[in-house]
Amino acid sequence: MNERRLFLKNGLLAMVGVTALSKTPKAEAVAGIKKYGMIIDLNRCTGCQSCVVACKAQNKTVQDKFNTKILTLEDGNYPDSRIVFTPVLCNHCDNPACVPACPAEATFKLPNGIVVTDWDKCQGIGECVKACPYEARFIDQRYKGEMGGKVDKCDFCLNRLEQGLLPACVEACEANARLFGDINAPDGEFSEYLKRTDLKVRKPEKKTNPNIRYVLNRRSRKGGSL
Ligand code: SF4
Ligand code: SF4
Repeated sequence: MNERRLFLKNGLLAMVGVTALSKTPKAEAVAGIKKYGMIIDLNRCTGCQSCVVACKAQNKTVQDKFNTKILTLEDGNYPDSRIVFTPVLCNHCDNPACVPACPAEATFKLPNGIVVTDWDKCQGIGECVKACPYEARFIDQRYKGEMGGKVDKCDFCLNRLEQGLLPACVEACEANARLFGDINAPDGEFSEYLKRTDLKVRKPEKKTNPNIRYVLNRRSRKGGSL
């Protein structure tokens, strides 16, 4: 976590023009404005928790708090039921409710689409935690601000992106349920997925315009826990 804080302090603005992604990020680095997003295919997710463990190992979040979780839905009544897993994380919203809620202006959206928190400014006030409709944020009491703690959440593994690596959860997923990429890129697997007309986002009625999109489980009536 200290490493991450140092990164936020020293490298955040340098990340504004970060290039990357797909399975071979550095090889596909191109000039231009990138906007990062993730597509999660619920037909592929087996609920194995590898992404949760990898994220915890990478980001060392405080005990019992996670940057990503897997929601479990039992669709139907046993024995006539199906278990559907839905990985969730910060949506890096285009209209993030958390950003205007912060009186310290500590949280903001980078031009590459990633919503970040500057821990040098964060005072642990917690208004952003309350404002997020997805419960994506939490306070880490190990780092005391003026009001007690620092607010943490997924940052798409910003320090890994800088090194040309994929987010830890994406790399860890054996089922390839998580696809990460540039929403503005014209081709590639991520781009092909983006063209699908059946992609869904969590709580569209909140009008936050999430950048995590889902392919629902086609064998489930509800499709997932959005
Ligand atoms: Fe902010 Fe929550 Fe949207 Fe993430 S999911 S950008 S924390 S409102
Ligand atoms: Fe965790 Fe990084 Fe995945 Fe976000 S992108 S859920 S921080 S592993």
